[in-house]
Amino acid sequence: MNRLFAKRAAQPLSRMLLCSRVTSWLQVCPARNSSCQEEYALTDHKFDAIVIGAGGAGMRAGFGLAEKGFKTAVISKLFPTRSHTVAAQGGVNAALANMDKDDWKFHFYDTVKGSDWLGDQNAIHYMCREAEKAIYELDMYGMPFSRRPDGRIYQRPFGGQTLDYGKGGVARRACACADRTGHALIHTLYGQTLKYADCCHYFVDYFVLDLIMSRGSCVGCLAWKLDDGTFHRFWANNTVVAAGGCGRVYFSTTAGHTCTGDGNAWVSRQELPLMDMEFVQFHPTGIYGAGCLITEGVRGEGGFFLNSKGERFMERYAPQAKDLASRDVVARAMTMEVLAGNGCGPLQDHVHLQLHHIDPKVIRERLPGIMVTARIFAKVDVTKEPVPVLPTVHYIMGGIPTNYKGRVITVDENGCEQEVKGLYSCGETSCASVHGANRLGANSLLDLIIFGRVCAHDIAENSCPGDKPPEVDDRATEKSMENFKWLRNANGDTPTACLRAELQRTMTKHAAVFREGKLLKKGLLKVAELCQQFKDIKITDRTLVWNTDLVETLELQNMLANATRLDELDYGAPMAGQKKKPIDEHWRKHTMTYVLDNAGCASVKYRPVVDTTLDDSVAPIPPAPRTY
Ligand SMILES: Cc1cc2nc3c(=O)[nH]c(=O)nc-3n(C[C@H](O)[C@H](O)[C@H](O)COP(=O)(O)OP(=O)(O)OC[C@H]3O[C@@H](n4cnc5c(N)ncnc54)[C@H](O)[C@@H]3O)c2cc1C
Repeated sequence: MNRLFAKRAAQPLSRMLLCSRVTSWLQVCPARNSSCQEEYALTDHKFDAIVIGAGGAGMRAGFGLAEKGFKTAVISKLFPTRSHTVAAQGGVNAALANMDKDDWKFHFYDTVKGSDWLGDQNAIHYMCREAEKAIYELDMYGMPFSRRPDGRIYQRPFGGQTLDYGKGGVARRACACADRTGHALIHTLYGQTLKYADCCHYFVDYFVLDLIMSRGSCVGCLAWKLDDGTFHRFWANNTVVAAGGCGRVYFSTTAGHTCTGDGNAWVSRQELPLMDMEFVQFHPTGIYGAGCLITEGVRGEGGFFLNSKGERFMERYAPQAKDLASRDVVARAMTMEVLAGNGCGPLQDHVHLQLHHIDPKVIRERLPGIMVTARIFAKVDVTKEPVPVLPTVHYIMGGIPTNYKGRVITVDENGCEQEVKGLYSCGETSCASVHGANRLGANSLLDLIIFGRVCAHDIAENSCPGDKPPEVDDRATEKSMENFKWLRNANGDTPTACLRAELQRTMTKHAAVFREGKLLKKGLLKVAELCQQFKDIKITDRTLVWNTDLVETLELQNMLANATRLDELDYGAPMAGQKKKPIDEHWRKHTMTYVLDNAGCASVKYRPVVDTTLDDSVAPIPPAPRTY
């Protein structure tokens, strides 16, 4: 029900007016606001399930629920096919064995090793085992995979993917749609959701402000409808958070402007932890200056790096896998070349990626998007000259902790794992811990479809369409509305864009490829300062309809909650320590960080890494030195 109440004088929230199923919140004014008599229209919606986010993960969960008859609300601040999944290029992994004698157990081995033994082996087991089924499902849904001449799905090599447990050379495992795999995936999934349109209800251009929790369980979420300025509470027994990553916390990133870690921030504000947030992946091939991605698929098709001396320097750092070593290894090698004075260009601050030795026909057929991206953003014709590249933030391995069924977990005061009732998560915002300290290329699209699917399956196994929905509880959304009103009327001296730029520069400088204690500590202090400065934020647009000033400010508040985590932990110290210790004494545990009152600091608990597999079909891989 939707109703606007007449303007009234400001009153304390305790005097909130309640009308049957309609609530009017009275404006709480920040001290410096002059016009504070506002009205907020509110509608309550009840569903069998809610999915927040309509990227690859959200849509897979959404239609998975809808096909089982669950009346599902899929809520998104963007039109579904504009979600960031659309930008994914290179491919999605599955050991289909279309090109080589491949096996999902080799994929399992590579993923455990790629994670630096900081991934949970039960979740990795599940993902790699289910991969083949999930890809053929996509094929059946009409995903336009590139094909081999015999009609089977084309697969290309990607970093860190090998045959025969690392002994059989590079594996061709990434199923590709030219270099536009994410584009093809997201449109395929969108098509499927439309097939179940009677159950799958989209709420597009709804900005979710917060989760709604009641007695420790998640019962829904609160959203602001951007095109008419109304507010909506969605109630359901199960909510899936699939709100994407937080790459925009950094200045140089391949992530879109909307990747602001909103999902992570909602969970943080419920005093729940995020896991392994210190693990940030730098993709080796961001275009110098612009940060846009050149897919690893380029090296899969034969491209390689050169330094200013014309040396193929990766031969020194990863003698076997060379340019196709895993991303962290390559990004560190590039940084070391630049630090050693071997960088290219007048500032000697980047390296070159060469592909003009590859047949231009192959480039045009397999890497058409890359040709265009390089031409626009680097002014380079890839068939004639190298692309200037530099490591850039690409993927956040940490996020909302889940088990391999997609259920959100936390740890209690005794350090024991607990599930959060009614709350699921999948995609880049989540951390099922299949990537550990380093995600292998083409394992993220796989993560989306596997864990989006499992969230839907698990909800369907444990509840039924039409189950009694949660009771509406007006108090559960008071805090979030207060925050919204404060920001809408914020009249300080610090414009959002200035504070955001400062945050992004701080992160890029203080938490980069090499994370070192002293620099991180300085960064942490700086982030704490920026959190204080946020209290002095200035909003110039006070309207409720398409107020992008306010959207960006809410996103900045969410980014700060993510940044606090990213800067808290010194992974450099344990890494340096590891080198001196025997392998069985490695520093291996999950960090569970809790943000304290948005004050710019976090507390940390730990959770053991799961070193066991789901059953005897594959044996756990014991930790070992990670060489390529
Ligand atoms: C350039 C690039 C290339 C890549 N290439 C590959 C590749 O080849 N292979 C691979 O495996 N991985 C690749 N990745 C990684 C992969 O694409 C992403 O990790 C993945 O697509 C994330 O999907 P997602 O569904 O979790 O999030 P997204 O696709 O980002 O979707 C997030 C959704 O949440 C919604 N949302 C967010 N905040 C709110 C809010 N406040 N209110 C309402 N809705 C909200 C958004 O509207 C959106 O619908 C690439 C990444 C980039 C950046």
